[in-house]
Amino acid sequence: MRLSQYFLPTLKETPQEAQVVSHRLMLRAGMISQSTSGIYSWLPLGSIVLRKIEAIVRNELNQSGAHEVVLPTIQSADLWKESGRYDAYGAEMLRFQDRHDRDMLYTPTAEELMTDIARRYLRSYRDLPQSLYQIQWKFRDEIRPRFGVMRGREFYMKDAYSFDVNEKGARESYFRMMRAYIKTFDRLGLTAVPVRADPGPIGGDLSHEFHIIASTGESLLYYDRKLEDIMAESGHTEVPVDAIMDLYAMEEEMHDPENCPVPASDLRQARGIEVGHIFYFGTKYSEALGANITDFDGKILPIHMGSYGIGISRLVAAIIEASHDEAGIIWPESVAPFQIALINLKVGDSACDETCQNIYDRLIESGVTVLYDDRQTGAGDKFATMDLIGLPWQVRVGPKGLKAGTVEIKCRRSGVVQEISLGSALTQLTATLAA
Ligand code: ATP
Ligand code: MG
Repeated sequence: MRLSQYFLPTLKETPQEAQVVSHRLMLRAGMISQSTSGIYSWLPLGSIVLRKIEAIVRNELNQSGAHEVVLPTIQSADLWKESGRYDAYGAEMLRFQDRHDRDMLYTPTAEELMTDIARRYLRSYRDLPQSLYQIQWKFRDEIRPRFGVMRGREFYMKDAYSFDVNEKGARESYFRMMRAYIKTFDRLGLTAVPVRADPGPIGGDLSHEFHIIASTGESLLYYDRKLEDIMAESGHTEVPVDAIMDLYAMEEEMHDPENCPVPASDLRQARGIEVGHIFYFGTKYSEALGANITDFDGKILPIHMGSYGIGISRLVAAIIEASHDEAGIIWPESVAPFQIALINLKVGDSACDETCQNIYDRLIESGVTVLYDDRQTGAGDKFATMDLIGLPWQVRVGPKGLKAGTVEIKCRRSGVVQEISLGSALTQLTATLAA
């Protein structure tokens, strides 16, 4: 992509309304634009990152054996009246009437609709286990939307639902999902800490929240420091779910300092951003809606269910909170909007133009995504823009270097700038990216 033709409305000034660094950087990097309170438009750069995160989440969910569906965002209130949540959900649910005065709502989550699908199509133990998921916009009329897409009113969420014959099966589904989450966060370049959660209004007795440790996190966590080491490694190895379950990790509301089993020297206190939440809630919804199956010996029993969310739009902000510096965003390679920033330091100079065009063409040919800064502006401006939008590698081509047969390669994360020969630049870049 040529920057001169791209839609990248970056801002030089720090937006006053943004209180946290991810919100400031997303606005400055031209990723999002506020439409109204808690509701955002995703501009081209932001939308690429959102889709990349979505693709990784989808890939891991598919590998775990779940099947993707697409459910409507607008639902009739009827199912929610059946489950009892129409009254219980409160002001966060956006409610309205259609032209026939029927009660409708914009979905904040989809337990009811998924349970309805289960009761229509799952009949016997032979149809189970089953897991379905969707990646869909949700709406919650948050009392205090803030921090940009971190706590929006409209937000993008992956929500999965598992259906099992009994508690034993449901716990297996729960832990399969836990493993998929750990792999997903690892691929996103994040270390997520699973903490025991209060199942709250969804109900049930087994629940974990996944948190990204960041000083701007809204939750205060207490956990055994061994957990962080296990999590940092577990994306690459077989996920040690049993070890994770044995280690202490609680949110502030559930942490009891008097009876904490972890000695103070091993207890870590940190703030976290909740990026995922998994629940096993038993037969709460299947009983309310009558989603039953015939058991092995002909008994009719309610299905055991779990639900599993990941905040995809919140993750964009959480990744930035976890990975940035004064100059801007530092994208993990897996979600970077482009892999390489190609910087032409003297547009109009025929050697610079030709070399850049050649590098650009060959990178594109080898399947690498490139943002080529071919604008007529100064070097300082170009460096600042690329540092701000955080692409992992910068290739800088200038007349001085070219006379000596060299270009510069900068690693955004380490800040290290290497001067390398033009001949080896392409092979070195493609090798680095393949690694
Ligand atoms: P929170 O405690 O942050 O309000 P929640 O517990 O209400 O979240 P869940 O119902 O567990 O949220 O939703 C699953 C995931 O969706 C959360 O882990 C979070 O990543 C994301 N999410 C929830 N609410 C929002 C929101 N208002 N804006 C962006 N993402 C959200
Ligand atoms: Mg939650």
